[in-house]
Amino acid sequence: MIPSKAVKFLAFLIIALAIALVMAFIPFSARHNAVMVQKDRFLMGTIVRIKAPVGPSEDPKHVKKAIDKALDEIARIEGVFSVYKPDSEISKINRLRKAETLKISDEAFELIEKSIEFNKKSHGAFDITVRPLVDLWRSAGQTGQLPSKDAVSAALARVGSGYIILDKSAKTLSFAKDGMSLDMGAIGKGYASDRAVKVLRESGITNAIVNPGGDVYCLGQRAPGKLWNVGIQHPRQKGKLLFELELKDKAIDTAGDYEKFFILDGKRYSHIIDPRTGYPIGDGTVSASVIANDATTADALATALCVLGAEGSKIIDTKTGEAAVIIVKKDDGQVSVVTTGIMGRYNVKKKIEL
Ligand code: AMP
Ligand code: MG
Repeated sequence: MIPSKAVKFLAFLIIALAIALVMAFIPFSARHNAVMVQKDRFLMGTIVRIKAPVGPSEDPKHVKKAIDKALDEIARIEGVFSVYKPDSEISKINRLRKAETLKISDEAFELIEKSIEFNKKSHGAFDITVRPLVDLWRSAGQTGQLPSKDAVSAALARVGSGYIILDKSAKTLSFAKDGMSLDMGAIGKGYASDRAVKVLRESGITNAIVNPGGDVYCLGQRAPGKLWNVGIQHPRQKGKLLFELELKDKAIDTAGDYEKFFILDGKRYSHIIDPRTGYPIGDGTVSASVIANDATTADALATALCVLGAEGSKIIDTKTGEAAVIIVKKDDGQVSVVTTGIMGRYNVKKKIEL
């Protein structure tokens, strides 16, 4: 029997109503979870990844274009601050001899000025003039020969943010000593992340995650009502998470002795140097993760906290949303975790006990 038009219409109405009801009970976020645009580019010696959800009223092509622009901005920043590019502004600065003056861009001036502020805030633990020591310890890693005490002292004598002379009105820089050089390695990726976020925002993108090799900025949310999930890795168990948390309009960065290091005579030497002693961070800290309102701050403070260890908690401004997880070595060779401003916030979940 062929159903009448009225029955057909009624069936259609019931099905449509059922679909509408089901859709109403599936959260909007779940329906839009899958649509993500992601682009990777090799920049600043690492894979830079930017990911953004495409909203129902957004054009994926526009989102892709915005991500490309943000990646171009990171490439531009690499051109300004890389010590590996002979034409970068930093390389020009690093060729200066004592008392020679160079006019620098507003951008370089501001980031160097900010770096000097972080040096003060961290009581000397973060220092962009650390490069003579970085070079010394890098060649130790390559040759397998530790530097002599004299060599460390000689390099240390050329380190100190107090020897950078800035003229704010003329926008010039000079060094008070010969043989000084700057290394933006502990702040540059964070800065690049912030600049990429600025470019995304200017293109109308309000939700994205920017990740230039760990200096993550979580812009907005991954789906309506769902924040970005980030993990803090266990420093000694690869692939395992210590904490999982949710962030919105916040940055997170981790610095530690487990990513770049060399082992000599059974001892681990980190790529992070204590600019106050001239030696790589020793037996105190394994890693430090910092959450901050911008990635420049998270980057600089994560490095500073690696140098300062548990004491570093004191420079974390929890009132502004800053938080830290510092993993320290105990005398028995085990590790313990010191947290500041993180528990009870950011929907933090502890994944494994230390
Ligand atoms: P990050 O991975 O952000 O901790 O940056 C580490 C890089 O910053 C190193 O590879 C060095 O180039 C440089 N660096 C090492 N120690 C320091 C320090 N105490 N302050 C500032 N920069 C540092
Ligand atoms: Mg850093």
